[in-house]
Amino acid sequence: MTALGLSLTLLLLLPHIALGWLESSHPAEAWHLLYPKIRDRLIDKESARETMRSLEISLKALYRQNGHVTEEAGLFFPLMGYGPNAIGGRNGSGYHIEGYDFFDGNRHKGHPGHDIFIRDRNQDGLDDITGKPVLVVAASSGIVVSINLGWEPSSPVRGGNYVWVYDPLRGRYFYYAHLTDVLVGVGQIVSKGEPLGTVGRTGVNAYKKRSPTHLHFTVHESRDGYPRPVNPYPELVKRATYP
Ligand SMILES: [Zn+2]
Repeated sequence: MTALGLSLTLLLLLPHIALGWLESSHPAEAWHLLYPKIRDRLIDKESARETMRSLEISLKALYRQNGHVTEEAGLFFPLMGYGPNAIGGRNGSGYHIEGYDFFDGNRHKGHPGHDIFIRDRNQDGLDDITGKPVLVVAASSGIVVSINLGWEPSSPVRGGNYVWVYDPLRGRYFYYAHLTDVLVGVGQIVSKGEPLGTVGRTGVNAYKKRSPTHLHFTVHESRDGYPRPVNPYPELVKRATYP
């Protein structure tokens, strides 16, 4: 082939190469770009749900391709060195899903999760006994689909610094909020018990003096791109592994 012929062939191929690259862009990266639009209500519910639905299909395929086809049931307790007695309320009474809708984002109603408190009387974000940060670990294996880092008190984001992990095998989303540090990146595959970050005081309400230092932990189960909260309390109390 002549030089001219080669350049012409490359020119013709270029759009296809570019298109192929776009199509193979990481579904976790795409989820990470979509989520702030849902959080900040910049996208209508139907389009958001449709995109979520197709991303979940891609995330499931990707997870399978990476050899993850089965996993033992049961959650890891998400706070290193703590157990169910650190869960707020009486017998998990802090969980309220009345009026809650995932697509209401940052302005959602209810409290579809559990606050798990650390020993931190002076509110420095460190465990009063060990003097160290408390690790937040993955309750379930999955793919990190979004993180937020660099939250400032001027930000309206209620979750502060957070991590979302999608478990493609069970179609569940795990949300860990109010962290100080985030130790994982978008697209990373994490195993149960793997550190995701450290407990902190980030987020509109968690930052306030009246709020004792805690992890906010929510589990959603998604069918067809519509995550709905499920209560992990029975699993956390009866079957969890304690790191
Ligand atoms: Zn909470």
